[in-house]
Parts: sequence; C-alpha cells; structure tokens
Amino acid sequence: MARKPFIAGNWKMNMTAASGAALIRELIPLVKDANCDVALCVPAVLIPAATEAAKGSNIKIGAENVHWAPSGAYTGEISCDMLKEYGVEYVIVGHSERRQYFGETDEAINMRAQAALRAGITPIICVGEMLEERETGRTNAVLSRQLTIDLGGIEDISKTVIAYEPVWAIGTGKTATDEQAQDSIAFIRKRIGELFSPEAAAKVRIQYGGSMNAKNCKGLMAQPDIDGGLIGGASLKLDFATIVNYDK
Ligand code: PEP
Repeated sequence: MARKPFIAGNWKMNMTAASGAALIRELIPLVKDANCDVALCVPAVLIPAATEAAKGSNIKIGAENVHWAPSGAYTGEISCDMLKEYGVEYVIVGHSERRQYFGETDEAINMRAQAALRAGITPIICVGEMLEERETGRTNAVLSRQLTIDLGGIEDISKTVIAYEPVWAIGTGKTATDEQAQDSIAFIRKRIGELFSPEAAAKVRIQYGGSMNAKNCKGLMAQPDIDGGLIGGASLKLDFATIVNYDK
C-alpha cells in the first residue's frame, strides 16, 4: 500500500496560546483539502489552546517531547497520559536541538519512543548527521548508529515516523539537495529493512526536515523515498499551508 505523505510542523519554543491559536484558525481553510496527513507539534503549554483551535479540522496537534515514565519525580518533563488527555497523536523525539543542547542520548530517545508507542502516540523519531560528519564521509555510519539504538526493541516499526534532519540544514536556510535528501532517506529505509524486514521498511513514513520551505518542497516531495516533511521556521507562518499543498 502506498505511504500517505505526512507534513508536520515543529513550532519549537515559539508562539503563545493566543498567537498560535490565531495561526491555526488561519491555516484551517487553507489546508482543509490536503492530500497528506497534517500535524503541528507545539510547546506543551500551548497544547490545550492549539487542540481547541484545531477542533473539527484535519490539523492534528502533536507534542515536542515526552518522558518514558508514566509519572514521578522528573521535574520539567511531560508524560504520555498528559498528552493523551488532550488527544495528542504525535510526538517528536530525538530532535537534534534536544540532542545538542540538552544532552539527549540515543538510549533516552529509544525509551521515549517506546513509551509513546505503548500509549498509542506516534513518535516522530529524528535522526541526522552534523556537518563535520557529512564532510568526513560518516553520514551513513552516524545514521546507522542512531537507528540501531533509537529503534531498538520496537515491535511494529510501521507505527513510527522517522524524520531525516541533517543538523547542518536545520534553521540555517541551507537545504539538502533533492538528491542528498533522497540518498540519505533511501539509506535509512535500507537500514530499517536490515533491522526489521524489507516489508516493514516499505511501510515506514520517512520525512525530510531542514529548511524545507514553500519553494523547495515540491522537488523534495517528488523523491521516491521522501514521504513528507518536518517543518520548523516555515510552520510559524502561512507558508506551512503552501507546503501542505505541495502537490497542487
Ligand atoms: C526542525 O526544527 O525540525 C526544522 C527542520 O527546522 P527548519 O525547518 O527551520 O530548518
């Protein structure tokens, strides 16, 4: 079965409840006829307002992180149950900003992803190499290591979404070329085939993320292994609707 494209936004630490809800209300009529799944992953404290604003539309609200424990002494963390209370269906785990600035390890990312799956929330698991790793020919080795640990013990890989986000392309305006993105995503699919099965790998949706915008989305989305995008900066404006409608 063909993989349904999936375009998700990542608001990071931007917007407020009021400005976020206003943007969602503006986006709703613009994305209502999308042929892809659409989500906006928002800061935890904005989830109630975003969920309320998106009610009845095809925009799903996601979170930007989740903890693996059901509850407990984990100051500052958010549990799956807290997200589920608001109907959250997606959660980003392992974003490179969490890896870089908050010491997120592959082992912790794996625990977060497994907890989300147990709770029926789809984890969007981010992987990607740093510039220096690409320049020294280590891209595939890095992706392979991240995938092996991040996906360890997952039973049904087709219930996850993978986001390939080369760190050098995030928030820099430097997008990977269509060919670079396709090559790395094809490698990710092949590696998932080795770790699970080729049949399972053929079902997993793999997004590209890294300065994807209204101009470059068509070329990226035309690549055979690219099933969607994880959009940072451009998801804070109406450009997000143009990306969602990339096929029109
Ligand atoms: C991201 O944060 O996942 C991202 C891809 O950001 P940007 O689109 O701004 O590069």
